Amino acid sequence: MDMNKQMEEAEASILHTYNRFPVVFDRGEGCYLYDTEGMKYLDFAAGIAVNSLGYHYPGYDEALKAQIDKLTHISNLYYNLPMSEAGEKLIKASGMCKAFFTNSGTEAIEGALKAARKYAFAKSGKADRYEIIAMNHSFHGRSMGALSVTGTAHYREPFEPLIGGVKFADFNDLDSVKALVTDKTCAIITEVVQGEGGIYPADSEFLKGLRALCDEKDIVLIFDEVQCGMGRTGSYFAWQSYGVQPDVMACAKALGCGVPVGAFVLNEKVAGASLAPGDHGTTYGGNPLVCAAVSKVFDIYEQDHILEHVKEVAPYLEAKLDEFVEKYDCVAARRGKGLMQGLVITGRPVGEIVKKALEEGLLVISAGSDVLRLVPPLVIRKSQIDEMADILGDCLEG
Ligand SMILES: *Cc1c(COP(=O)(O)O)cnc(C)c1O
Repeated sequence: MDMNKQMEEAEASILHTYNRFPVVFDRGEGCYLYDTEGMKYLDFAAGIAVNSLGYHYPGYDEALKAQIDKLTHISNLYYNLPMSEAGEKLIKASGMCKAFFTNSGTEAIEGALKAARKYAFAKSGKADRYEIIAMNHSFHGRSMGALSVTGTAHYREPFEPLIGGVKFADFNDLDSVKALVTDKTCAIITEVVQGEGGIYPADSEFLKGLRALCDEKDIVLIFDEVQCGMGRTGSYFAWQSYGVQPDVMACAKALGCGVPVGAFVLNEKVAGASLAPGDHGTTYGGNPLVCAAVSKVFDIYEQDHILEHVKEVAPYLEAKLDEFVEKYDCVAARRGKGLMQGLVITGRPVGEIVKKALEEGLLVISAGSDVLRLVPPLVIRKSQIDEMADILGDCLEG
């Protein structure tokens, strides 16, 4: 069967909620993917910043297979060893206090919002502090709660009324946040590097200002590290490079490097006075299979010095992309941190470049309306960055 036929078959049964690119992927190897007709692609999308170890990283598959042979699901009514191992490693990497494993980034956000509301409730015994300040151009997920704090009106509007009490400030504008704070504010939520919105790293002053504001007013500071976390910017979590710790953090995407897992992580203050037995749950969350993956991911990051590798190759990628800004009129700027980079495209639809790159065997994605996003596996090598630059250069040319 050829690929067109395979796509037709998919459309016959799968709800059309994505305008998918015309390719059917079959397998991956290292930083490359192969479609069902055998064509090879260099992967600078990593399944949207998920496959940080690329495909078939030594030891990863084996760890999952070994866990499948033991136990994959048991529910949260009982303990399992991979969950405690994964939890311990996540706590150690973040320096925070307690973790709750979820099945996605969206669910991690849901849990973080509930923890913040419950913390405010527990403090006063009343549900009078429920307001949440979120950022314009943010993205936190598609469920009713996560959508409520997502700062793009056209995502939200068809589904309103969403949860009440959410206000939007401007990212990197501390005064715009302060102007929205009231006695009812229980939480402020922001990405540390905005991803879907167009790859905008936070300013250090902004994050420090949020921390001080939240400390002063006993507001829960939530950082969404779903996309920028797990080493993507060169530290386990992007906030670590700013020295600004949140009260609650949401992570997912690369946490399991390919299995559906997320987590929200609480500091001691919120862990000790928010969600209690009966307040929150999940049937699959923290199951032995995904937690074996998380645990192995942390081991690999440590043993193979993945964060150091990111710090070494990221400046090389930045330099290549800066050359594009110099060389091509359609590239207005580069923004990003570590291996989370965006090129601002002008005068041409970014989708056209993404499509052309795909035809030439390079996977890149867009972010926002005009940004070309590059989020390769963290194990990408300099030679592969050169290979990307050759292909992408041709695509930007004409
Ligand atoms: C992808 C993403 C989410 C949603 O995660 P899912 O796993 O798709 O539910 C939330 N926040 C950010 C910043 C993301 O990039």
